[in-house]
Amino acid sequence: MSDCLFCKIVNREVPSTPVYETDKVYAFLDIEPEAPVHVLIVPKQHIASHNELTAENVDIMKDIHLAVNEIAKKLGVAESGYRLINNCGPNAGQTVLHLHYHIIGGRELSTKIL
Ligand code: AMP
Ligand code: ZN
Repeated sequence: MSDCLFCKIVNREVPSTPVYETDKVYAFLDIEPEAPVHVLIVPKQHIASHNELTAENVDIMKDIHLAVNEIAKKLGVAESGYRLINNCGPNAGQTVLHLHYHIIGGRELSTKIL
């Protein structure tokens, strides 16, 4: 989608710091990290949010979850642990309407989800 920030990042029209990439997914550093490790992983295909996952496009979740494991190992947080977050819609604070997961770790996180 031409006016989508994360599509522009995937297409290298907006700069980012790459962490991991396959033909289907791209992961890059969050510009405002909340922890020593704060990576965003997105499908290269534009999917606006978790609400837009369907039987036709949900296969991408396999790629995303396997990539998360590779990224966690690569960044050294697989053993220490990390939080995988998806914000869906306004009440959850989704600010970029392109499906993305936050991988947050590298320090002890609050035991509260909210
Ligand atoms: P969310 O609130 O779940 O929609 O998360 C959007 C995330 O995108 C936030 O953590 C922002 O810091 C991050 N972000 C916004 N613009 C950029 C950018 N140009 N490069 C990397 N991360 C970004
Ligand atoms: Zn997009």
